[in-house]
Amino acid sequence: MLDFVIPAPAPVSLAVAGGVGAFPVGRVFCIGRNYRWDPHDKATPVDMPPWLMKPTSAVVPAQGELRYPSGTIDFCHEVELVVAIGHGGSDIDPAQVEAQHIWGYAAGLDLTRRDLQQQAKRAGNPWEAAKAFDQSAPCTPLVPASVCGHPRQGAVWLAVNGIERQRGDLSELLWPVRELVAMLSRSLALRPGDLIFTGTPSGVGSLQPGDVVSGAVSDIGRFSMTVCEPPQPARPRRSTSATITGVSS
Ligand code: MN
Repeated sequence: MLDFVIPAPAPVSLAVAGGVGAFPVGRVFCIGRNYRWDPHDKATPVDMPPWLMKPTSAVVPAQGELRYPSGTIDFCHEVELVVAIGHGGSDIDPAQVEAQHIWGYAAGLDLTRRDLQQQAKRAGNPWEAAKAFDQSAPCTPLVPASVCGHPRQGAVWLAVNGIERQRGDLSELLWPVRELVAMLSRSLALRPGDLIFTGTPSGVGSLQPGDVVSGAVSDIGRFSMTVCEPPQPARPRRSTSATITGVSS
């Protein structure tokens, strides 16, 4: 056993639906632009969709309170099908993805500080500040593929205070799950424990403290969470160094 010089980080895991065991979470990949948001857009995508990553500190159970993050005034919801990888690999054949590599599925929220994302887009900066914050990827318990199969259709929806905002169907994914997994595996080696958020239907919008956010992905996962108050802005700290400098000079 290694003699770590600081306490090793605790593993992050997700519950398994049915209550048997836990799924250890490795990395989190988020796919962008995987539904047609504009019905008039008839163009078929020719390139692979963009993707980004969130750290494991983003993953929390999709229940109870949804923390309003610091540093934003535009906290947005994106409901998504989440794919859990059970067997990793590189250059995976799309035809083998479902049978060999996917362990299960969940419903997830790809939470976004949209104002920071817009700023980053304008400045040509990375998106981590907008996407990779703590608790930004709540997930329902994972359903093993041995139980739910590999869903090709089913509603993906989200409502705020009972009013529907997002509704799509898994059959509308521009890049189906097997293609997404194969695509990522050509860019890096997928590992057991990786989660893939597969993109969100149109209707993304802002959340306010007190909002009740509910939603589901097919019959795989259903959630309801309440947005809590944002953290109070930190009081500006007065540096003591000025005083010290004043005294010493
Ligand atoms: Mn997303």
